[in-house]
Amino acid sequence: MSTILDGKALAASVRQDIREEAAKLPRRPGIAVILVGEDPASQLYVSNKARDCAECGFLSRRVDLPASCSEEELLEIIGRLNADAAIDGIMVQLPLPESIDERRILEAIDPEKDADALHPLNVGQMVHGDPVIWPCTPAGIAEMLDFYHIPVDGKTCVVVGRSDIVGKPMALLLLQRHGTVILCHRHTKDLAAMTRQADILVVEAGHRGLITADMVKRGAVVIDVGMNRDPATGTFTGDVCFDEVKDISSHITPVPGGVGPMTRAMLMQNVLTLAKLHMGLLPRH
Ligand code: NAD
Repeated sequence: MSTILDGKALAASVRQDIREEAAKLPRRPGIAVILVGEDPASQLYVSNKARDCAECGFLSRRVDLPASCSEEELLEIIGRLNADAAIDGIMVQLPLPESIDERRILEAIDPEKDADALHPLNVGQMVHGDPVIWPCTPAGIAEMLDFYHIPVDGKTCVVVGRSDIVGKPMALLLLQRHGTVILCHRHTKDLAAMTRQADILVVEAGHRGLITADMVKRGAVVIDVGMNRDPATGTFTGDVCFDEVKDISSHITPVPGGVGPMTRAMLMQNVLTLAKLHMGLLPRH
């Protein structure tokens, strides 16, 4: 029987710590979240972020733009936020409408205000293993591993999914912690042969029920990033068949209540870190 990694409870305690630390700073940390279009899921994520900011005592600014807005308009807003001394972190809610070049937008954000660490300069620092901040989801997973005293050094770590926002930085983070990393994706020939080797298995395929019990080694730590919405019920399930895998793994994250809340908490943590950097309380690279 597995230990359930309770991301919800841990995230609440992380937010409390952030609130206490933020209260000691000379000014409130500030974040701006830009939402383009009216995707209901994105609207919900952005509202949740505003709630987290309020709980942490941060200044939060929300910029809503119509899906028809131009790349130039968006770049101009980012330019203004880059120059705004009250704003420490900028986050553009993804995905952006197809008409907008996502890369160009993300590269326009000041790397020192890049709250999700997606700017190429920050990605480069990740490759070197010493970024100021990690993207929120891998950072949240690392925080959970630390809290539950799960060592990475020398472990075989298998990551399923190679997205820029989760899979790739997760692989780099585990590598930096001296894990032996296997990064799988859609072209991986025999996924089960890879996942069965994992001491630590992180799954972010966005494919409900992809990981079954026969794909998991006994005693593995299983981290489920997947959030697959059932259109009929509106509920979320992960990429891992939780009910069967929990009897094999040593530790497992639930969906919901595992990685999701930690991802949100780490956005606050990242903004706090950037605020300290801007206030001269942390060394620059
Ligand atoms: P994505 O489509 O960008 O990436 C998915 C990755 O999974 C790709 O690299 C793809 O190659 C790989 N993949 C897909 N099917 C596979 C298969 N059958 N075998 C092996 N590899 C496979 O998606 P994304 O935006 O990274 O999101 C993935 C999932 O993670 C979604 O369910 C999303 O909701 C969730 N997510 C959750 C959080 C969180 O905070 N919990 C954060 C980000 C994403």
